[in-house]
This record gives sequence, structure tokens and C-alpha cells, in this order.
Amino acid sequence: MLVAPLPANENERLADLRGLGILETPIEERFDRITRLVCRSLDVPISAVSLVEDDRQWFKSIQGLPVCETSRDVAFCAHAILNDEPFIVEDALLDPRFAENPLVTDDPKIRFYAGIPLSLGNGRNIGTLCAIDRVARDHSDDEIQTLRDLADMVTAELNTIAANETCVKLCAELEQAERAALIDPLTRVWNRRGAMTILEREVQRAERGQTPLTCALVDIDHFKRVNDEHGHDLGDEVLRQFAKTALSALRSTDILSRWGGEEFLILLPECSEPDAQIVLHRMLKKIRDLEFEGERNPFRITASIGMAAFADQQIEPIEAVLKEADRRLYAAKENGRDCIIAQGEHDAFANGALRAG
Ligand code: GH3
Ligand code: MG
Ligand code: MG
Repeated sequence: MLVAPLPANENERLADLRGLGILETPIEERFDRITRLVCRSLDVPISAVSLVEDDRQWFKSIQGLPVCETSRDVAFCAHAILNDEPFIVEDALLDPRFAENPLVTDDPKIRFYAGIPLSLGNGRNIGTLCAIDRVARDHSDDEIQTLRDLADMVTAELNTIAANETCVKLCAELEQAERAALIDPLTRVWNRRGAMTILEREVQRAERGQTPLTCALVDIDHFKRVNDEHGHDLGDEVLRQFAKTALSALRSTDILSRWGGEEFLILLPECSEPDAQIVLHRMLKKIRDLEFEGERNPFRITASIGMAAFADQQIEPIEAVLKEADRRLYAAKENGRDCIIAQGEHDAFANGALRAG
């Protein structure tokens, strides 16, 4: 196996990458939708936005593998950043640089790799957008052109700051390791501590701007059964897919966090309760449409939501609003699950009229 040499502009390249402040930030739909497009348009099972740091490649977005980084020594992307042209390996087993690479000989058993180097416009490559397959394959000019176009979209996103101002500021204030401590390693969204930090700031922002702020506690229904019937690993995969799918349905300014176990907290800034209901119903539908390959049979999941708004003067402060959301979540479970209970609705749930669908 050949370890990629360091590029001549390694120090400047790393400074570009670290200057972005993107390492150890949560997954974001604006990158996930591009890697999904790579998978679909090139018909590959794996795609990633890989950022090559000094000793590792870190994936801002990845489809098809449950990892967030690998060591740089084994990274195909470490080779891809050495030149400005697409880097393509049609069959890794026939390539002396990769035939004995553990990513080829063991899981995920890479055979085909195509990576487009990413730079911020100055020619210094900080990472790649790549497409990976477990079978050897050739490629067409069209496919590579598609990958190039999608890589340009990744660059455009790298040059744009995220939509939620509070998160952008928080990420900028923190060192990489401090950010990592606020992120759930399984789902790669904010953890409970991250959520509380953001929530406190969002409440202040809502008060300053006199804008609505809605929060929703979401709990996956009968999740214990998923673990019992299909195993803990698939349970973990369900949690990961839940987070990605929820993000794909939320607005870019909304914040998703893992509150604990199979429970998530969503903050919807500048969103009234009726508008939040629309967003969250759309999310529940996407969750309901997900299909998982179980041990013996495919299965689906649903989730229940308790919603509370900070504009509701009667239930300030933060703890009281969260408690009310939790009470409504309990009501949603009582109501038969797969539904949203919001203000004034906890008495109406008995008639079942609020069931989603
Ligand atoms: P309900 O509809 O009432 O919410 O039922 P439930 O089965 O979802 O709720 P319950 O609280 O009985 O079970 C939650 C389960 O979630 C139990 C726990 O083992 C599982 N769980 C919590 N965290 C994780 C995790 O990180 N991975 C996996 N695979 N399972 C988890
Ligand atoms: Mg549950
Ligand atoms: Mg629960």
C-alpha cells in the first residue's frame, strides 16, 4: 500500500481548512443532499464530502457508511487532493497503490473510487467530493462531469455560512474539541448540552427581536421493539436515518438535537406554532415513508411530538416550556402515537381527530 505524500502546499491548505471552522460541526442537509445526489446519479452506494486534515479525513457528509472519519494513511482522498483533476481508481485490487489498503481488503471493501478535489477557489485542495462502489467499474465522461458539477455545489456551500445565525456564532466561538463535545457521536447532530446552549441563545434572540420560537420534543414510537426484533446495530442505524431524514424535512434555520435515547429536540426559530405544525407534519410523513431492511422483514417507524411555543407567556421560562412539551409528548403517545400535540390540543386528543396522516 502506498501512503499518499503530503502536498507541497500542506500548511497553507490546512490553514484554509481550519479557517473554515467546519470541522466537528453537525451534519447539515445542504451537504447531505449533494452526497445523496452523487449516489443516485452515479448509482453508487457510498459518497462523501471528505475534508483531509493532518492525520485523518473527516466527513462533513457521508452516505452509505456509518463512520465520520478514517486515518489519512488509508484515505483515497489523500491521493485525490494531490492534483486538480478527478482522481479515479476503476479497480482498487488491480492498483498497487491500493490493493493492500485495509479499506479495500476489509470493510467497506472499496473497489471503485472517483474523487473531485475541493478548493476554496485558490487551488489549494482541502478535500474531495467522492463516489465509491464495492464493485470494480468503469466510468463515462458524463458521470465525471456530473461529479464535477456537484463538487462545485459543495464548494459553493463551503463558501456560504450556515443558515442559523446562532449556530454559526457558537461554532465560531468554540475550538474543534469544544464543538465535538456538544455533538452526539452516533447521529452527528447536537447533543443535549449543545441543544441547551443553543436554546438559551435562541430564547434571547427571540426576546430581542420579538419573534416566535417553537420547540418540539420528538420520540420514536415503539423503538424498543426495533432493538428487540432487529438488533441494537440496526437500532443505531434507525437513529442515524431518523436524524438525516428529519433534517431533510426541516427548514435550514431549524435546529435538530438528540435529547437522549430515541428522543430528539427540535427548535424552530421565527416560526409560529401553526407554521411549525406544517413543518413537523411534513417531517413525520418523511419518517413514516422510510423503509428499513429488518432481520426477516422490512419495517417502518413512526414518531410522536409534543410542541410548545416560547411566545406563550404562560409557560416561560425554558424549563417550563420544555416540561410542557414533554407533557404534550406524553399526550401524543396516549393519543395513539404518530401525531403532534400542540397548545390547547392536549384536551382534544381523546377523540383521535389530531392523528397525523
Ligand atoms: P414509546 O412509543 O412509548 O416511546 O416506546 P419505546 O419502545 O420507544 O420507548 P422505551 O422508552 O420503552 O424504549 C426506548 C428504547 O430506546 C430503549 C433503549 O434501549 C433504546 N435506545 C436508547 N438509546 C439507544 C441507542 O443509542 N441505540 C439503540 N439501538 N437503542 C437505544
Ligand atoms: Mg420511544
Ligand atoms: Mg423515549
